[in-house]
Amino acid sequence: MTRLILASSNHGKLAELRDLLAPAGYELVAQSDLGVGDADETGSTFIENAIIKARHAARATGLPALADDSGLVVDALGGEPGLLSARYAGRHGDDAGNNALLLQRLHDVPDAARTAHFYCVLVLLRSVTDPQPLVAEGIWRGRILPAPRGDNGFGYDPLFQPDGYAISSAELDPALKNAISHRGQALAALCERLPAPRA
Ligand code: IMP
Repeated sequence: MTRLILASSNHGKLAELRDLLAPAGYELVAQSDLGVGDADETGSTFIENAIIKARHAARATGLPALADDSGLVVDALGGEPGLLSARYAGRHGDDAGNNALLLQRLHDVPDAARTAHFYCVLVLLRSVTDPQPLVAEGIWRGRILPAPRGDNGFGYDPLFQPDGYAISSAELDPALKNAISHRGQALAALCERLPAPRA
């Protein structure tokens, strides 16, 4: 097994990714389990932040590193909340506040113009100096509902109605959401392109 550092301290993500990467010969280890703290996300795009996080973890550990970055992009708001998705209303992880602010900003936007998508990018750096990181992305399109619906998921799930569904992503079965979401798509794309681990 090749050890791969996950540049995140989110144990939910670790569990999901670990199951997918083990059959490909990779053992995923959370950076926090090796005493590595979070990087400053100073980029202006999702991919810049994912690269910053992966490089920080690769530099600190000397091991290959995997990082992700994701968020919600709303067309009528010029791409907001975008990079600010986790702290749109000010405090990191304030899902209720973020959802309330999103609804407020969209209060006079008609249904047809409430298009949005979730975006996820995954970056695998084989070493801190890797000039050619492996990049995989996923896009999940839908629209923003007028009021929250459902209890599953997290973040903006209660306000996001995926294209092709008459319910919110917080009403979807969690396994189905994982399979079709931006993160699921990015993971599938990464797994297809993963190099065979070094013996
Ligand atoms: P991160 O990539 O885990 O930091 O996610 C950034 C933020 O984007 C989260 O805090 C959520 O607000 C939002 N987000 C990303 N993916 C999802 C999702 O699958 N459902 C709902 N919100 C999401």
